[in-house]
Amino acid sequence: MSGLTSVKTEALTLRGVSLGGVFTSIHVPELSALFDVGTATRAGAPADFLFLSHGHADHIGALTGYLGIRGLIGKQKPPTVYMPEEIVDAVQQSLVHMSELQRYDLSIEAVPMAAGSVAKMRGDLEVQAFATHHVVPSLGYSLVRNIKKLCSEFSELSGAEIARRKRAGEDLFYIEQRTEISYCTDTLIQALDNNPTLYDSRVLVLECTFLDERKTLKGARAGCHVHLDEILERAQLFRNQSLVLMHFSQLYKPKEVVEILDRRCPPELRERILPFVPRSNSWPG
Ligand SMILES: [Zn+2]
Ligand SMILES: [Zn+2]
Repeated sequence: MSGLTSVKTEALTLRGVSLGGVFTSIHVPELSALFDVGTATRAGAPADFLFLSHGHADHIGALTGYLGIRGLIGKQKPPTVYMPEEIVDAVQQSLVHMSELQRYDLSIEAVPMAAGSVAKMRGDLEVQAFATHHVVPSLGYSLVRNIKKLCSEFSELSGAEIARRKRAGEDLFYIEQRTEISYCTDTLIQALDNNPTLYDSRVLVLECTFLDERKTLKGARAGCHVHLDEILERAQLFRNQSLVLMHFSQLYKPKEVVEILDRRCPPELRERILPFVPRSNSWPG
């Protein structure tokens, strides 16, 4: 698919497509992470860590395509796929059938997650799952870096002395956690109210399916989706370096999304919002 959307935050690139109800898949190459796979892209296929928010087709529908492209480009190792524990069996069974059709092994390393689960990724990175509130089992994910830091009482020591004490088994360090990115979609806004640490994630990727009166707040909530009104009510709370809004409804054209955000968001928030929309005024696909 040509015409992938791409936005850049201070440290990360987010590339992919997102259109509410149609498809969402966002690749972050710096972390080898792919958030949902509602469509399979060549750019996203090399990602080794896939985070599935829930089992709706616009988020999981292209899992087979993603695995097929990985085979094509010679990725031998099955990807690690984090998902709500309730959907693991169904996902695995579907892959058994798809492998049969392919006559090719489409296996994954499934990691069942629940709200509060923590799992290692690679190096100093881990994933923490948090509750989202949708019409089917669902989760959000924060990718957190554990940074080893020297305790302040040792900051005056020379390098040689630190090395000597380390060899002697002394504990000179503590771990500081930094949330690089959080992904929160297909949910009631309560996901933010119940997980206020999301406001401190460096990058917060948040669904904003509905933007104005064309959908009432009541209607948005009935489908368990976020309305811009609810983000604006909480505008003071967002401390994120970047707030990436996505999963917009087809009710809006891409340029309209930007116009509405320009018009409705207070400047202190608007300057940190990156709307995940294509540059052209038509949605991809
Ligand atoms: Zn969706
Ligand atoms: Zn959904």
